Amino acid sequence: MTETVRPALFLDRDGVVNVEKNYLYRIGDFEFLDGIFELCARFRSAGYAVVVVTNQAGIARGYYTEGDVAVLHDWMQERFLERGIRIAGVYHCPHHPEFSGPCACRKPEPGMILRARDELGLDLSGSVLLGDKESDVEAGRRAGIRHLGLLVRGSRILERVRSQAGELPLRDWIEGILGKDPPIVEP
Ligand SMILES: [Mg+2]
Ligand SMILES: [Zn+2]
Repeated sequence: MTETVRPALFLDRDGVVNVEKNYLYRIGDFEFLDGIFELCARFRSAGYAVVVVTNQAGIARGYYTEGDVAVLHDWMQERFLERGIRIAGVYHCPHHPEFSGPCACRKPEPGMILRARDELGLDLSGSVLLGDKESDVEAGRRAGIRHLGLLVRGSRILERVRSQAGELPLRDWIEGILGKDPPIVEP
């Protein structure tokens, strides 16, 4: 049996999927960034899995619980599904070195990405990562992800990105990656 290995679009959560707010865990505080659904739909139609990887040290700090995060992430995935976008996985690191000791999953460590690769059967060398902090990009680099994008902050719109190709509009970055390749048809 041949195992299908597919590329993924890895997204940080706070500041990429939703507007960054400190220690966000309430559904009512969760605001999707403009352009996130279109971005995910574009990669899904090209055959990429969409995976969210997020540091949630608020758990280690006792600001919210694993249960709170599970409820929020279920809700978040439903909002994507309403738009026909399946999120293959949402991974979070609940740790913080000062409160729970060192771990292998808190970005810039690559642990969440490597776990997603193993659990979801992903090809990291053909994958893409979009974050809003250097630690996101560093985690992707350590995991061997090919295309690394750092969002240029300052608005509620996914607009510009810094990448190996320099700073450019997000749209141009995406099309530079996906190009005119025919979409991968999933069985
Ligand atoms: Mg972030
Ligand atoms: Zn961790």
